[in-house]
Amino acid sequence: MKLLLASRNAHKAQELTELLPGVRFVLWPASAPDIPEDGAFFQDNALQKATNALRWWQQYGTETVDGVLADDSGLCVDALWGGPGVLSARFAPELDYPTKNRKLLAMIPPDVPRCARFVCVLALAPLNGAPFTVGGAVEGTLALEHRGEQGFGYDPIFIPEGFEQTFGELPSDIKHRFSHRGRAARALAERLGL
Ligand code: IMP
Repeated sequence: MKLLLASRNAHKAQELTELLPGVRFVLWPASAPDIPEDGAFFQDNALQKATNALRWWQQYGTETVDGVLADDSGLCVDALWGGPGVLSARFAPELDYPTKNRKLLAMIPPDVPRCARFVCVLALAPLNGAPFTVGGAVEGTLALEHRGEQGFGYDPIFIPEGFEQTFGELPSDIKHRFSHRGRAARALAERLGL
């Protein structure tokens, strides 16, 4: 199965390639327009990205694909009323991730629970047929400081339930086993019979 990945995020592309070995991914071209996402929920954004990218590809695409896959994901922190959530990619965009992660941690008062979860919604817009979504989440807590260089984004401040290390300290095969994206990818593979 060949799918266009409606994302410019190289880390997502890498993880999805590892998680879905039965799929050959075509990457969103550098010359293609940015894919808009202005929904209130992960599901809205994932569907919006997949269906808009499919429409564009049907007009300008350079090769045939079986459909378009989009990933909308983020970190939801209870002490921040669920934020940054769907706005995870837009939180403090001027900062690099180590600085952004320290800024986010500094926003958490010292005496509140540090519960958080990563959420991932994958939307598939098939060439023929109705688009659909699958999702995955992983519960955890926020670390007290940025720890580790594995993974990407908020991984170095997130400790998944059952572990003491952050996703930034755990190898990618362990992250894949428990992560939001790993769970969503397995649900997609099951749905597609891969
Ligand atoms: P999106 O492109 O709107 O889905 O933005 C997703 C953002 O959420 C990313 O840019 C990261 O900041 C964050 N994020 C999503 N998944 C992960 C992950 O697996 N690890 C770390 N950060 C993530």
